[in-house]
Amino acid sequence: MPDTDIVSKKIAIQGNGIKITPELKAQIAAEGYYPIALTWLQDDITGPFSFTGYGDESPFELRDVDGHYAVYENGKYFTDATFYKKPDFFDKQHTAKGLEGQSQDTIFIDEGMSGVITPCGTSKDYDSEGDLFKITKGRFPYVTVACYNGLVIWPAWGCLYTRAKSECKFCCIPGDYNEHKLLHNDDDYWTNLGETFAAAVEEIGPEIGQVSLTVDSGTLPGADKGAHVYIKVLETLRARLGYLPELLYRRAVIEPPLDFEWLQRLADAGFTDIQMDVDVYDPQERRYVMPNAKGNRPLADYIKAFRKAKEIFPGEVATQLVAGIQSDENLLKGVEHFASEGIPTLVTPFLPFGHGRDWRATGEVDVPSADRMRRIYDKAAAILTKYNVPPPNFRGGVSSLAETMGRRLKRVNALTHPKDLNPRPVSVAA
Ligand code: SF4
Repeated sequence: MPDTDIVSKKIAIQGNGIKITPELKAQIAAEGYYPIALTWLQDDITGPFSFTGYGDESPFELRDVDGHYAVYENGKYFTDATFYKKPDFFDKQHTAKGLEGQSQDTIFIDEGMSGVITPCGTSKDYDSEGDLFKITKGRFPYVTVACYNGLVIWPAWGCLYTRAKSECKFCCIPGDYNEHKLLHNDDDYWTNLGETFAAAVEEIGPEIGQVSLTVDSGTLPGADKGAHVYIKVLETLRARLGYLPELLYRRAVIEPPLDFEWLQRLADAGFTDIQMDVDVYDPQERRYVMPNAKGNRPLADYIKAFRKAKEIFPGEVATQLVAGIQSDENLLKGVEHFASEGIPTLVTPFLPFGHGRDWRATGEVDVPSADRMRRIYDKAAAILTKYNVPPPNFRGGVSSLAETMGRRLKRVNALTHPKDLNPRPVSVAA
């Protein structure tokens, strides 16, 4: 019988994170799990993010209970949790030129995962010998598992607005703009990206059709907002494999290009889905939270881009709004406005990473409570249902809207640790 309360449990954990001791984290990694941050609460319920640094003050804590992992709330059993296995292709990582093997003063993917981005050198996690515990040692995996059953490629970590010191206040990517983040400027990056993707396709095998591909980055300079780099990603994969595999979807996450011709080019290159994040709905709130060209972009531009994209892309055209950094009323107005255009909104909670961590420290914003998120999800679900719009396909560990609407996703075996391949009895530990 499915645990009907499991979505509420996910939402409850999501705003708090999960405390994981450095020792337990090292054990999880040694057992061959990756990425630590993408948990599963059940085989068809994706979990919330789980890692330290965010969950240090959390009432939720991960424990090893007789050889499997469970989340405890204030010392009491709450739910079981598992992680993806570490795929072999994750070992293929990019290091910026001249920085071979060195930790660098730039951003990178910490803790063997993506979706959590931490500045190098500021992690407070230590292994049992007291050394900084960093799986990637400041290098970038070419292809990561950053959303559930999903491969993600970031051809650039830099963002134009960070360079201009006008970054969005909630931005999860910390640090300053520098060339080491612009992976697409490095020829080696492209060669090895193709190799890594080929390795991923081979490793995943026949289940590749159940896996999605997402290309994402900060906003890049130019009227195309970086679309030419996204196109180069698919061209590189196609050139290496000789074809583009049939995936669940091939999704571009991008700010709407100024010239909509680029939308057509993205679709022609092989993207089936597109997500153009509005993030904040009310124009005045937009300008305050995003003091840059994105925040000043009229909503009407997004609506035009959505309409154009819906004509072009065979899959989903979606957007995102972030709860906790705008009034719930305005957020829901946005969900309704976009739903009336046939566009699903990925509703995500504000999480305190990167610049968002600094913003939270001012006391101006906080992570929305579980009750608040539950109310928002319920109302957003009712709006999408009213407009006959399905929940967004994408789930990156930061939204429970799809689950609230009853959508489930089965973890693919190829990314599942052998230990978790067979259903095991639900823990009854006290
Ligand atoms: S949220 Fe996106 S657009 Fe805004 S500063 Fe960060 S990477 Fe750039």
